[in-house]
Amino acid sequence: MKVAVIGTGYVGLTQAACLAELGNEVIGIDNNSSKIQMLNSGEMPIYENGMKPIVISNMKEGRLKFTTDINEINGSQIIFICVGTPPGSDGKPNLSYVENVANQIGNVLKHYAVIVEKSTVPVRTADWMKLILRNKLKTDFDVAVNPEFLREGTAVDDFFYPDRIVVGTDSPKADAVLSELYKPLNAPILHVSLESAELIKHGSNAFLAMKISYANMFSRLCEKAGADVETVMKGIGLDKRIGESFFRAGIGYGGFCFPKDLDAFVSVLEDHNVDASLLKAVKKLNDSQAEHFVNKIVSVMGSLKDKRIGVLGLAFKAGTDDMRLAPSIPIISKLHSLGANIYAYDPKSMDNAKAIDEFKNINFVSSMCQAVEGCDALAILTEWPEFRDLDFNKVKESTNLIFDGRNMFNINRMRSAGFSYHSIGRK
Ligand code: NAD
Repeated sequence: MKVAVIGTGYVGLTQAACLAELGNEVIGIDNNSSKIQMLNSGEMPIYENGMKPIVISNMKEGRLKFTTDINEINGSQIIFICVGTPPGSDGKPNLSYVENVANQIGNVLKHYAVIVEKSTVPVRTADWMKLILRNKLKTDFDVAVNPEFLREGTAVDDFFYPDRIVVGTDSPKADAVLSELYKPLNAPILHVSLESAELIKHGSNAFLAMKISYANMFSRLCEKAGADVETVMKGIGLDKRIGESFFRAGIGYGGFCFPKDLDAFVSVLEDHNVDASLLKAVKKLNDSQAEHFVNKIVSVMGSLKDKRIGVLGLAFKAGTDDMRLAPSIPIISKLHSLGANIYAYDPKSMDNAKAIDEFKNINFVSSMCQAVEGCDALAILTEWPEFRDLDFNKVKESTNLIFDGRNMFNINRMRSAGFSYHSIGRK
């Protein structure tokens, strides 16, 4: 099929590259010309496991092209809208990018196409988009909602092996076109209304955030009651009705999906006069988890004035270079404001981290070893697998004090190796 993807960020680039890999002819469109220039010269504007080879091979074979020219949507049977929906100051998502794109499509599209909302948006946004398009387009068109469930770090795998694909539309024609597009994936397709599809996306992200906050609530209790949060959550999660995934304690969820989507969904509930206090409590607990971790450090180290703290990991999770709303930001800012000197290393997100205002006074180093060297304590903030290969003999030459915000190591082994090892929810 001929497909256009508007917005080539984490979602759009994955969608464009993977659809090309399935044999479709795809044009990726972005109004950020430096992004398009990078892509056209074979460079990736984001880091995502397994993405680069797919992009390069499909570009070589002529199935994948990138442009800044919105007119290039003409010729495509399907147009995916994958632009950002960042949070506004009131927590509601800023829909101006979606609105812009709808207007642009309205101005240039010359033939029937299925226009698909893939960005995460509040319920009834598709309806509003339809109005914009209807006022502008002279051709027939259909609108569909096909929410994205990818996880950064495993985006390519998530595309090829989804648990389910949600297709929301009131048009049998659009439904048939999208079902045909996704047929090679052999995944269950849920055919629903526009409104249900929009709510499925917000509802699943809010539920996953709730699982994480639930685990973090338990971590605080475990620390006081002498239990081990890892085994407690495993014991609860082994019940198939609950499930083990996204059920681990840590320094809180971050990234550009859970925090913003939870806020957006709270607004949706409130706009419909539905009590949102359950989800507000999820957010409150998450927001205080970074402070809880800093308090742990202070309770062990006392004053942090002029203390050197090596930080391993800045990205909001392993497998991505994404720094948006990463819990490392409030943690490092607080440690710095308490007088600590920070020496931070992340395998993939250093460039993005250097652009962050709150990080302007921290030192970036280029290896794990350099972060560890000469530090008074080591803090682990992202669960990058390579941190498991840490040379603990080397660490000990500088410090025996480790604060692990991701519970990466076996507590007994760390302690018998002589470390004062502090993790989350484990005594
Ligand atoms: P992103 O910021 O990485 O990418 C958005 C892209 O859209 C940018 O490259 C931007 O330049 C481009 N853009 C903006 N306006 C444009 C226009 N008028 N024309 C062409 N391009 C334009 O965002 P993302 O992380 O890919 O997220 C996109 C949407 O998908 C959001 O609604 C997000 O909530 C949702 N989502 C994201 C994830 C994720 O893990 N990142 C997962 C599921 C859903």
